[in-house]
Amino acid sequence: MGYIYSRLTNPTVMALANRIVALEGGQGGWCCSSGHAAQIMALYPLMEPGRNIVASTRLYGGTVTQFTQVFRKFGWHTKWVDIDDEAAIRAAIDDDTRAVFCESISNPGGHITDLPMVARVANAAGVPLVVDNTSATPYLCRPIEHGATIVVHSVTKYLTGNGTVTGGAVVDSGQFDWGARGKFPSLTEPEPAYHGLRFTEAFGPMAYTFHGIAVGLRDLGMTMNPQGAHYSLLGIETLSLRMEKHVRNAMAVARWLESDDRVAEVTYAGLESSPWFARAARICPKGAGAIFTIRLKGGYDACVRLVNNVKLFSHVANLGDTRSLIIHSASTTHRQLTEEQQRKAGVAPDVVRLSIGIEDPADIIADLDQALSA
Ligand SMILES: *Cc1c(COP(=O)(O)O)cnc(C)c1O
Repeated sequence: MGYIYSRLTNPTVMALANRIVALEGGQGGWCCSSGHAAQIMALYPLMEPGRNIVASTRLYGGTVTQFTQVFRKFGWHTKWVDIDDEAAIRAAIDDDTRAVFCESISNPGGHITDLPMVARVANAAGVPLVVDNTSATPYLCRPIEHGATIVVHSVTKYLTGNGTVTGGAVVDSGQFDWGARGKFPSLTEPEPAYHGLRFTEAFGPMAYTFHGIAVGLRDLGMTMNPQGAHYSLLGIETLSLRMEKHVRNAMAVARWLESDDRVAEVTYAGLESSPWFARAARICPKGAGAIFTIRLKGGYDACVRLVNNVKLFSHVANLGDTRSLIIHSASTTHRQLTEEQQRKAGVAPDVVRLSIGIEDPADIIADLDQALSA
């Protein structure tokens, strides 16, 4: 149980993992080298070649690419569904499905997932729901309280908050019965590289967490570095203050953009006009996050000009920084997707993504105003 070697466990990294677990209301978990590493590591104890996950089409572009390209090389498959379509999720889950995967507030569209509905469908089929809670953070949404089994994070974003760290985290609710249907042999059958240890037998409800650390980190080596964990621990101390300001600013900026006639659409779920307004009030009542997209009447070219003319906004692929960030996804983060995939992910060619920071909201609005004029 002690600190053997820092690829598996390290006191500083564990302090961060325990803090994120506490914020999410989980029972266990671990940190890893990036959000993408967290996704692989979260699924690793559950999967084998030939198995599949059922995933929302509304995911971060890099995740779509990972689930499409990299998983294929592992023999893992992804079945894409409209995560609002309960019947489609139920129909997509088959005998080889080992998880359902979605984002709570989806990057980049700001769509809010009906987590209790998705959890109900997944749990009825005997598979865990894995939720990427990066965009919401546990300050705005705690997926385990809505029925999720596992939560993953890109610690790179709001949890650290200032763009100094690349990191990830996996949080285990400790509430899933891994042995119930014989679907998860990595957790229930003897582990040859641990002298025949059965994780469910040895660790009970903590089987998944111990497998993630003792096998996942040991053998995959996607370890977070302690200095990064230290920065993230400092960042988390101001999470509540930052998230309050992020959502207040996002609301003010979204309202202003919605009333501007150069803008065709604002997707922010905090606006009464959003189809997800009522759902946001239920899933994340403290605010609908601070990431959303706008559609410009001027199309693709106007989007590129807007990005080139902002002064206060930083043009970067990151999100969840204290600074306001802007990106034209179709020509950058989501460029590797087909146009149909781009539309399904909410980033058509005339769409720009904003991550609203904690500056004075009047300054944010003034910058968008002058750049829209340009
Ligand atoms: C950034 C991001 C990831 C990937 O995290 P990295 O730390 O960049 O590997 C995954 N999901 C979401 C929602 C993200 O925003």
